[in-house]
Parts: sequence; structure tokens; C-alpha cells
Amino acid sequence: MQVHNPISAWRKYAQRYTLQGVKCVECGKSYYPSKHLCKCGSVEFTELKLSGHGKLLTFTKLHAASEGFASDGDYCLGIIQLDEGPRIMAQLAEVDFEKLHIGMIVLAVFRKYFVADEKDIIHYGLKFVPTQASAGRPA
Ligand SMILES: [Zn+2]
Repeated sequence: MQVHNPISAWRKYAQRYTLQGVKCVECGKSYYPSKHLCKCGSVEFTELKLSGHGKLLTFTKLHAASEGFASDGDYCLGIIQLDEGPRIMAQLAEVDFEKLHIGMIVLAVFRKYFVADEKDIIHYGLKFVPTQASAGRPA
């Protein structure tokens, strides 16, 4: 069952729903989710609002959804390289698995995740959809 902690959820609100990461002041490396220690050793970061634009590095189709997502049936997961550098694993929405391809340009969108059992509360979050520019396969 999905464990929902309102305090924890609130703290992660900006990061989770607005794709807010951090950028190292010393070397410029971007992170999402945020970190407190860069690979270069620096602990100084500035907030970074990620654009939500990226490209698909790899993907797979899940036939056995985890609890809470079972009502979705089969769905696709991808690893996306965001334009600003960080990689993120996310669900792909509004996609035809047969048309997915590595390098496909995708965009983050706000979509329904699941409905909590006890009060029928709908939880939303970010998923990625192909952009119009990437509708066809590369030559
Ligand atoms: Zn750094």
C-alpha cells in the first residue's frame, strides 16, 4: 500500500511538482533530486528550475503494476536525460509502446498517479509525454 505522510509530501512539494533541482556553484553540475554534496566536494548550491524538456535514454513496459498503480494496467517507464543534465526515471504517458525510441524528445506534464483507497483522494505528479517534434521515428 502507498504510504502517505502529509508532512514529508509537503516538504518535497516544490521538488516533486515543479521539477526543482540544484546547481553546484563550484562546478556547475545540476542535480535532481537535490543533493547537499556535489561530486566535486562543494556544498554550495543554487536552486535550479528544470524545464521539463528532455530526451528518452531507455524505456520498458511494465505488465505487473505495483500496488496502487494496478488500475492503470500496462504502462511504460523511461529514463529521461533532462536538458539541464540530470537523469530521471518516470512514467511515460500518452504513448504507444511500439512508437517509443531512444532519443525521443519528451516533456514533463502533470498527470494523475493513483487514487488513495481510504478517501478516494486523487494523487497527481509528473509524467513525461512525447513532444510533437518526436512523433515519428528518426531516419
Ligand atoms: Zn560541483
